[in-house]
Amino acid sequence: MSLIAEEGQELRGVIKRKGYYCQYCMNDDQQLFHHHFHHRFGKEVVYCRACIRMTYSSTETYYNLVEIKNLPEQADYQLDFELTAQQQFASREIVEVVKTGGRRLVHAVTGAGKTEMILEGIRTARQEGLNVAIVSPRVDVVKEVALRMKDYFSCDIDVLYQGETILYDSRFVISTVQQLVKYHHHFGLVIVDEVDAFPLPMDKRLQQLIKRAATLHSALIYLTATPPARLKKEMREETLVLPARYHRRPLPVPTYQYMSRQQMRKGKMKRYFERDAGSFLLVFFNDIKEMEEAAEIYKEYKPVTVYAADVSRHDKVAAIRSGAYPVIFTTTILERGFTMASLDVFVVDAGNYSAECLVQMAGRVDRKSVPYKGQVIFFHEGVTRSMMQAVKEIKEMNRLARMKGWLD
Ligand SMILES: [Zn+2]
Repeated sequence: MSLIAEEGQELRGVIKRKGYYCQYCMNDDQQLFHHHFHHRFGKEVVYCRACIRMTYSSTETYYNLVEIKNLPEQADYQLDFELTAQQQFASREIVEVVKTGGRRLVHAVTGAGKTEMILEGIRTARQEGLNVAIVSPRVDVVKEVALRMKDYFSCDIDVLYQGETILYDSRFVISTVQQLVKYHHHFGLVIVDEVDAFPLPMDKRLQQLIKRAATLHSALIYLTATPPARLKKEMREETLVLPARYHRRPLPVPTYQYMSRQQMRKGKMKRYFERDAGSFLLVFFNDIKEMEEAAEIYKEYKPVTVYAADVSRHDKVAAIRSGAYPVIFTTTILERGFTMASLDVFVVDAGNYSAECLVQMAGRVDRKSVPYKGQVIFFHEGVTRSMMQAVKEIKEMNRLARMKGWLD
């Protein structure tokens, strides 16, 4: 029920246990503790670098926990379409977990419509006075989820990332995981979106931060299209598999196409670029240099290139979304959360990606309600295990969805 506040006396920032430990952000990586002579304290001080962007947590600084009273509210939401059978099923399950406490791994395929599945769970939680947190690994995902939630709900929502501060009473929070450090035993419902997209070193600390931010009997929901193997194994008994897309069409199954690096450099991919007018093509590269080279070789198709460190990345992505470029060369930055009508996906050197990555990339195709028979081609110099695993999983999800009667 509480929020951590600066300038207190109760909780020392950095303490010494086996090694140093930061009580603010739960960091115990010794390499992230530095010391310096602090003039105000007049002595050597050890401080934590893991949370330095948020606070100055040290052996000489203290925090307080501020009590926030629970307050039930109606929290109705506006949804102008009916949930699919699968979404209703998932929604009921989530409501059940909210009521009883416990956790679920919601393994929902790309395009399943997972946001709509959590609405009823959120309303139930808020009506019972439980605080709600939706946590995402990346700032852009936090912003997008926040926009959608503000569309659905009219109640107050706190959106926390980087320098953004708390605006309301932290009863419904959408934030990056780092921001969870502010809360102790506060949330009765924690929804972790795209759990597999968290940086791997964050893994253990993520679990601890969630545990500390959540109440004792909280409901914990992990949402993902590609669960990490560890979580899949650990939560086998608590997994909800949702194999169907909201529009009731199967996932597009990737095909393999042999293409050596030399062939690619000689322009052999050209015949695949000859396509219908009005369709869009997303080509994934795992190497920026190779992508730039290819953009030169295939320049007659006027590809736009976009990657993570690209300074004009945001403008380019906006232009791409508006349909300005029929051919898009990119790295994995568009692997998730990117949807566009009439889109085909090529993966160059597909053997270099993990199965999870390949599933996400293939999952960009045929996402809109208007059907599009899109292509997914894995270009390769030899089919790898991860490629086979991705295709196998996609086929298996289609089979399951058909069996459940969730496809047309
Ligand atoms: Zn810290």
